[in-house]
This record gives sequence, C-alpha cells and structure tokens, in this order.
Amino acid sequence: VLTEDGRLARRPLPGGAQEAVLLGAEDGVALFAVEAPADTPLTDLREAAATLPQGEGGLAAYASALLAWHRTHPHCARCGARTAPAQAGHVRRCPSCGTTHYPRTDPVVIMLVEDGDRLLLGRKPSWPAGRYSALAGFVEHGESLEEAVSREVAEEAGVEVDDVRYLASQPWPFPASLMLGFVARYASGEANPRDAELDDVRWFTRPELEAAVAGRGDVDVPPPLAIARRLIDAWLGRQAR
Ligand SMILES: [Zn+2]
Repeated sequence: VLTEDGRLARRPLPGGAQEAVLLGAEDGVALFAVEAPADTPLTDLREAAATLPQGEGGLAAYASALLAWHRTHPHCARCGARTAPAQAGHVRRCPSCGTTHYPRTDPVVIMLVEDGDRLLLGRKPSWPAGRYSALAGFVEHGESLEEAVSREVAEEAGVEVDDVRYLASQPWPFPASLMLGFVARYASGEANPRDAELDDVRWFTRPELEAAVAGRGDVDVPPPLAIARRLIDAWLGRQAR
C-alpha cells in the first residue's frame, strides 16, 4: 500500500493481526508486514518498484517476498502437517516432526557476453517488439555461479565463454530471486537460439546499443530499473573510456 507522496504506508498494527512478520526497527519503532485486508486498494510491486525510492523498493521487496513465502508454504515439506510461523515470522516450524523451514532465495545468473566491441543479447517471445536483453537462468544444484553462466550461455545461445567476471546483483522478488550480474568473454561458437526459451540471439555493435539506450531505432533494451539495463549501461560507459 502506497501513501499519496509515493512511499510505503506505515500504519499501526491492527489488533488481532495474525502472522505479522517483523521486518526490523525504523526510528526506534518496530516495523511489521501483514497481509492487507481483502478490500484494500493495492499497488502492483513491479509498478511500485519503478517509482519508489531505492530503500523503499527494497523494503517492499523484503515484505512482499516474506508474506508470499508464508502464503505459499502452509504445510511441512517433510510430513505434510500444518506449520506455524516462529522467530517473528522468519521461519515456520512443524509441530508434528519438529522441522524448521526457512524462506529461500533462488539465485539467477544474468550475463553479458562480450567480444571486443560487440555484445550478445537475446529476446524472449513474450517481450515487447524489438526488446533484447542479457541472457539469464537459474543456478542449478552443484554448480558454481561461473559454471552456471557458462552453461546457460551454451544452452541458450550455443556459444562458449571464458573469463567470467561478477559485476553486481539485484533482488528480484517475483517471487524470490536474486539476480547475479556477470560479464563473460566470448570464446567460440556460432550464436543461435538453442531452446524454446528464446526466439533470437544476436550480436549488437556499440553504436546499435547506444541508439537503443537513447530510444532511437528498432531495438529496445530493458528499462533503467532492471539489472540487465544497468549491465548494458555500465558496458557502454566502460567501452567509451
Ligand atoms: Zn513436519
């Protein structure tokens, strides 16, 4: 819920609020997240994230991810009994088998592939016309982040990379991901979409990307909020020097 001046609403905790989640202390006052009553006018988190100041956006992501986790994990994954929140809403405990369940974050690698003065980007069929962005994918069990980058690029674009370097991260609470941004150096292979996830992958020259960032031409890049865009902007800035 947003206030009129576009911040997150702080309200007294309603009496009898069930399953309030403690977020922390703010100016000496305890801050909780609770599910809004059914008739409350709500702002979509993606929409809100585009306008909220960074700290408020982070708080909104934190609160909504924790509430979503409670909503979608009412039962014990081990024995099926109904679980109850504990530790101020940061875990759920099973009264039947004693297991403690923790909220999880899913790591996603997102990467630019560079080859000198050009970048490899891809597009998903569901994106707006002309939109291209960094390749991305979930990290699998048993692999390092660098291995995940190499595997995803090979699976999605048929290209081998080396010299994988970490750049920056961004929480992505849809519903509970952490985007980890990398740049990798092209090594070999012909870029082609390899699975149904992408309908095109191709190389972009620096002038093409500069035009896209400036809103000129047919190619569209993600909005400034997205880590993919920040990676592209950073690459353009680095190349310019
Ligand atoms: Zn259990």
